[in-house]
Amino acid sequence: MVIDAAYLGLLLLLQLGTPVYDRVILGGHVMDPASGLDAVRNLGLSGGRIAVITTEAVLGRDTVDARGLVVAPGFIDLHAHGQTPETYRFQSLDGVTTSLELELGTSDVAAWYRERSAGERINYGVSIGHIKVRMAVMHDSGTVMPVGDGAYRAATPEQIDQIAKRIETGLREGAVSIGAGFPYTPAAARDELLAVFRVAGMTKTPVHVHIRPGVAGLKEALALANETNAPLHVVHINSSALADTPVMLEMISDARAHGHDVTTEAYPYAAGMTEIQSATIQDIYRSAPDARLAELEWPPTGERLNRESFERYARIGGPVVVYTNSEQMVAVAITSPLTIIASDAYWQNGTGHPRTTGTFSKVLGRYVRESHALSLMEALRKMTVMPAQRLEARVPAMRQKGRLRVGADADITIFDPATVVDRSTYREPSLSPVGIQHVIVNGVSVVANGRAVDDIAPGKAVRAPT
Ligand SMILES: [Zn+2]
Repeated sequence: MVIDAAYLGLLLLLQLGTPVYDRVILGGHVMDPASGLDAVRNLGLSGGRIAVITTEAVLGRDTVDARGLVVAPGFIDLHAHGQTPETYRFQSLDGVTTSLELELGTSDVAAWYRERSAGERINYGVSIGHIKVRMAVMHDSGTVMPVGDGAYRAATPEQIDQIAKRIETGLREGAVSIGAGFPYTPAAARDELLAVFRVAGMTKTPVHVHIRPGVAGLKEALALANETNAPLHVVHINSSALADTPVMLEMISDARAHGHDVTTEAYPYAAGMTEIQSATIQDIYRSAPDARLAELEWPPTGERLNRESFERYARIGGPVVVYTNSEQMVAVAITSPLTIIASDAYWQNGTGHPRTTGTFSKVLGRYVRESHALSLMEALRKMTVMPAQRLEARVPAMRQKGRLRVGADADITIFDPATVVDRSTYREPSLSPVGIQHVIVNGVSVVANGRAVDDIAPGKAVRAPT
């Protein structure tokens, strides 16, 4: 029998009573925005949690060599559509350990969690979504978003009552937040939106809202929140604000200075994506001048649309790329200290937006390393502790995420700051980034040495107490 030196060392330490952790992460540059820790440390993980962070030598049954790499809390994405094994895999390769669908959400929270109860690759959670609830109450035939009465028919007082009741039910079933998207439900009048916000205010639940475009859209959402005392989270300020990004960030900053609970998020791309049949596209482009249709691109072919192709693809349905923002405004949104990084991941039937696979690595590669527009610690803060804090009041379990500290969940992303960068493009949106080396969810590697580990499901439900 051959006994190697490491094994002898292990035996010796066991005799001395030194703990042996499930896994150790050795020699990495540990960066924790919550505590400010920014130094080389060893980590020991046990039972899915961080057991020790130390300069001392530590022993584990399994070792991750993190020398030369940054060890950060796993990234938390507040806005990710898809929520399928395929999108969880894409997101894990981008460093995401918790993926939450808080804008569209679902109309049936209990069923949504039940479908995932065997575990997923990364942690997951959902909101009770006004859009989805309205589709159910108004019997809309759309699959992803409303295309009929869910978008275009005013609700009766009885239907508004039903909508509010279903939202309350979703909250009782543990929804993380309330989702809403006013441009997708243009017939939802102020009474109806107020009923939704009243539930939010009464239960202190944040409403994650896709606002109507521009300053007027933000004023409307702020007024609803003020009137009802509802916490407000404005999704993708970049694509809702466009050229008004600086002034709308200022409005959010002012609201916060006056004590209002308002937060926002952004994704680092100048083009958006949504369903061509949705009200938000149809209302703008159905009667737009022909030249404006060239803002739209059809993903399967990469062609910019004209009147004829717009009508043709609108009959078929599917996602369309929308080029309406400038890189300059995206940079304003991404670098503002107010914004959380959230992908708005979007993927369906084998195609989607590159933000699904590249949001977090793009911020680290392009905005931090290449243009020095953000410090690495500040970028990590926007991906970890900021999104965790947004949800903590309603979901206390989020206090154990987004941080590297003893007792926290062992959700950890380890990357090479010298090479990390996205590769996906609008034409090839499924390319995984480079430089994200190890991604650990509840102590288990879902990405090892830059490759996805398959057939594992350590991800758990993120859910409000029921
Ligand atoms: Zn979205």
